Amino acid sequence: GALAREAQPFLDTHALILDDPELRGGLIDLIRKGRYRAGAALVAQRDRLIEVFRRMDDAYLRAREDDLAQVIARVLDALEHDGRSEERRMAARLGEILVAENPSPAELASLAERGLCGVMATGGSAYSHAAILARSLHLPMLCSVQDAETVLGDGDLLLLDGEGGFAIAHPAAQDLATLRQWQRAQAARPRVAPVPAAPARTRDHEQVALYANAELPGEIAEARALGAMGVGLYRTELLYLRQSALPGEEEQYAALRGLMLALDGAPATLRTLDLGADKAIGTGLAMPTEANPALGVRGVRHALRHPAILRTQLRAMLRAAQLGPLRILLPMVTVAEEIAAVRAHAAECLAELHAAGVPAPATLPPLGAMVEVPAAALGVRTLLHEADFLAIGSNDLAQYVLAADRNLGTLAGLYDPRHPALLRLIAFVTSAARRAGKPLSICGEIAGDVTALPLLLAVGIRELSMLPARLPAARAVVETAHCAQLRAHLPRLLRAGSRAEIEALLCTLQQP
Ligand code: PEP
Ligand code: MG
Repeated sequence: GALAREAQPFLDTHALILDDPELRGGLIDLIRKGRYRAGAALVAQRDRLIEVFRRMDDAYLRAREDDLAQVIARVLDALEHDGRSEERRMAARLGEILVAENPSPAELASLAERGLCGVMATGGSAYSHAAILARSLHLPMLCSVQDAETVLGDGDLLLLDGEGGFAIAHPAAQDLATLRQWQRAQAARPRVAPVPAAPARTRDHEQVALYANAELPGEIAEARALGAMGVGLYRTELLYLRQSALPGEEEQYAALRGLMLALDGAPATLRTLDLGADKAIGTGLAMPTEANPALGVRGVRHALRHPAILRTQLRAMLRAAQLGPLRILLPMVTVAEEIAAVRAHAAECLAELHAAGVPAPATLPPLGAMVEVPAAALGVRTLLHEADFLAIGSNDLAQYVLAADRNLGTLAGLYDPRHPALLRLIAFVTSAARRAGKPLSICGEIAGDVTALPLLLAVGIRELSMLPARLPAARAVVETAHCAQLRAHLPRLLRAGSRAEIEALLCTLQQP
């Protein structure tokens, strides 16, 4: 009783602080407009108010800083405990399939770690970052299954065939028997012998370099076994999506060291952080709320507005350059100045590492730009003054050229990286890079699309980076192709006015 009486004034003060409109209003703003998580908003608002207290003349009021810190610590503690039970509730059990409208890449990454075995999305498209990540994780995923949520309930049995692109709700005994038969056949398949890492050769002896888009340790091993010459696109977002705090330099370096050692001397192209649009949710970053996030502060735009985050990543990459050949690639470049600005940061980071005696290369590794914004493609000559190499990101280039959101299943009929407008741009960029004598690759999903490969070879692409599992089929297509013959069709390809014409041309190209 006595203790309670003594504690009461403190508790009253704490309750008063919690009710303070300044605190609550700021918190609500951070969460609603700034898209902060509750915990991050509490910390940001606490720091903001503590600054205000510190500037006060009255010593008594200045001391209220401690009360504020205590109250917020208690709320954070309660949040964390509640968060844990929430996490448990969300935890997927082994063998569960997630049915959701549009799961984010961050959700998929964490659910896959907990044993999720498949995803059925009622929205989305195969070109979304979530779908790309699902393929990396070997997580079967179907997109745009419109009535999934009405047909299925929690705990229902669902059979999902990611390769065939279909699902069976409430499967019958016969369906399950067929599945088991398929599983046995898969398990009994002879292991393919590792393919040596070498370029594929066309029938007329042109070399085509095949690289992998890979970031998970298993994927890197798979890429090596399937003959990838290295990693052509290492997306660094995964490390950020998996946790609510930003990864520090050491954590990033440890991940990159794993990559470089697994590559055993083969080259890697490391892309700096490409958060924003559909990849922002679930990270420790407070991303601004934007009406058009695909046209907003993402990729290098975000990096240059948050130099501390960029520099932490650059330092880790520069240190990893001691372990094998690597290049640094910038996403969402629009103008050459962005490359120059990152180069200046990288040069300063390198000087800092040298000054601190941290092992780092003597000079900067090659710094390149993704070509995924139409202005970058059309202005490629200017970009080539600043970039040491280029990588065409056809996934985003297609969405910006066609003004069709890559995540929107309803626009799947319009969104097509094989659209003639896109092929003309790819041809333009490819010939500009060749004239400038700078390396160019393509690393969007089209690079691993065997039906589109003849088009890419015809426009002059000689370096492809794709999902590891697609390497064998791509190699087979390259080996049966004849570049000179394909090139002969280039004028017709560049004149094509519709996708139907491209399809007709592809039929001609595929004739032996
Ligand atoms: C692309 O846009 O084609 C690309 C490779 O980048 P991401 O898919 O990560 O946006
Ligand atoms: Mg992209």
